[in-house]
Formats: sequence, C-alpha cells, structure tokens
Amino acid sequence: MRELLIHPTRTFKLSSFDPNDTFGKIREDLDSELNKLRSMMSRLQYKLYVENEKSLLIVLQGMDASGKDGIVRHVISAFNPISCTVESFKVPTTEELAHDFLWRVHRTVPRKGFVGVFNRSHYEDVVEVRVQNLVPKSVCFQRFNQIKQFEIMLVQNKVKILKFFLHISKQEQKKRLLDRLSDPDKRWKVNEEDYKKRKKWPQYMTAYTDAIINCNIREAPWYVIPANNKWFRNWVVAKIITNALIEMKIKYPKSPPHHKDIKI
Ligand code: ATP
Ligand code: MG
Repeated sequence: MRELLIHPTRTFKLSSFDPNDTFGKIREDLDSELNKLRSMMSRLQYKLYVENEKSLLIVLQGMDASGKDGIVRHVISAFNPISCTVESFKVPTTEELAHDFLWRVHRTVPRKGFVGVFNRSHYEDVVEVRVQNLVPKSVCFQRFNQIKQFEIMLVQNKVKILKFFLHISKQEQKKRLLDRLSDPDKRWKVNEEDYKKRKKWPQYMTAYTDAIINCNIREAPWYVIPANNKWFRNWVVAKIITNALIEMKIKYPKSPPHHKDIKI
C-alpha cells in the first residue's frame, strides 16, 4: 500500500487523506483476505522468533476511538503471545517523569526475535504534551530530532519500525463516542477527557502533521491509515505488517553440520 506510505521528501498534508477511503475494495473480499494475512503473520513471526536476530516494532497512534485497541484485537492477535509484547503508554508516572521522555519507551522496545506493539508511544510526547502545553513548545520541537536519532539507532540495531496513524474523521469519532455511551458493554470506556479533547481537534491534527513530517525517516516510515471503516483499517494494517515481515528476509538458523548423522 505505497499510497499510504508518507515519503520523507514529499510535502504532506493530512487533509489530502480521506479517512473513508477503501481504495475500491469490497468488505467480503477483505475479510477473507485478512484471515490469510493473519496466517502469514503467524508463520513469519515464528520464523522471526527462531532466527532471533531482528525485531519488529509497531507504533499505533491516533485520536481516541480511532481503533488502536481494535488493531490489537483483530490484527496483532494473529501473533503468538510467546514472542509478542503490547505496551500501552498512559500519562507518565512520577518515576517516568523523573527521567528523559524516551526512558520508559526504550526499555519496552522488543528484544531480538520479538514483535512489540506500542499502543500510543513516544509520539504522545510531541502531540499530547504539545496540545496540552505540558512543556514549552521549544522543548517539544527539540524532541523531533531526538526521536529521529532514537529511531535510527534502533533501526541500525535491527529493529524494523512501522508507524501507523489511524486517521478517523471528527464525525466518525462522535459516532463512536456516542456508541460507547449507549452500549452497556462499552460504557465503561467513556472518559470525560475524550470529549474535552475533541474541542481541540484542529490542534491535534496540526501536532500530528508536524510529528509525521519531522519524524518521517526512510528506515522508519509513517503510514496514514484511512480508519473510518474498521474492515479496511484492519486489512490494510495486516497487509503492511505482512509485507514488512517478508521484506525482513527472515531465515531459519543453519542446521548443525552433522544433523543427518544424528540418531535418536
Ligand atoms: P482507550 O482506548 O482505552 O481510551 P487510551 O490509550 O486512550 O485507551 P487512556 O487511559 O484513556 O488510554 O488514556 C491514556 C492517556 O494518556 C491519553 O489521553 C494519552 O494522551 C495520555 N498520555 C500518554 N502518554 C502521555 C505522555 N507522555 N504525556 C502526557 N499524556 C500522555
Ligand atoms: Mg482514552
């Protein structure tokens, strides 16, 4: 899905991406394709684990109700939990705030052979922190370069990074938040903060745009995922993850030289 990959050298405008886009795909086709992709993801993850050389880091960002949890449930669940970690980044604790902003992030980067998922990430430190004015703007802007350097360091240490911005419209968010209110199984998710944040929608979009432009490196690209349609969102994220795992050229380790002579 090259169209969704943000090129580091081209101009980028979030408004030129339609959250409703499905690239002419049909739901029935994609639902069955998703199952096939899930099997491939599972097989490739097994190989990654056995090879024990590289790791894959998947970063999920997006507004509230954009589907970060949905991606974990419908796509990431294809992975065997034995070598997959999911970290949800919340408001930093006192301990975390006593360190640099990347401290809590670095320690949860997946180890060799593992897939790691960040449900929110260090990008909160240039989006949420910026919109809520938690640190001076100049500090936020310095962080762009720090994030770039950090990600380049990870890539050079064989961590493949995929960054997904789940792009929903403000209208779609309203629908989903109202849904949470009316559905007894979702009501627990209702958070007054989410409704307050909606009022700052344009500020969030500007902060995301700047983060995507300033931290988009060839080795760790951003993808903008049209996420109003959950079935398309799930399929396209699974497709990008599968392709990335294929491109990682994972190999089984060599068999011991005399394995044919081994008698059991
Ligand atoms: P859910 O889908 O369950 O609502 P969530 O990721 O929104 O998931 P919450 O516990 O509702 O989880 O919210 C976590 C909050 O922590 C978010 O509002 C997020 O912006 C905030 N947060 C995360 N990292 C930081 C950070 N570094 N600084 C400030 N706020 C942060
Ligand atoms: Mg929330």
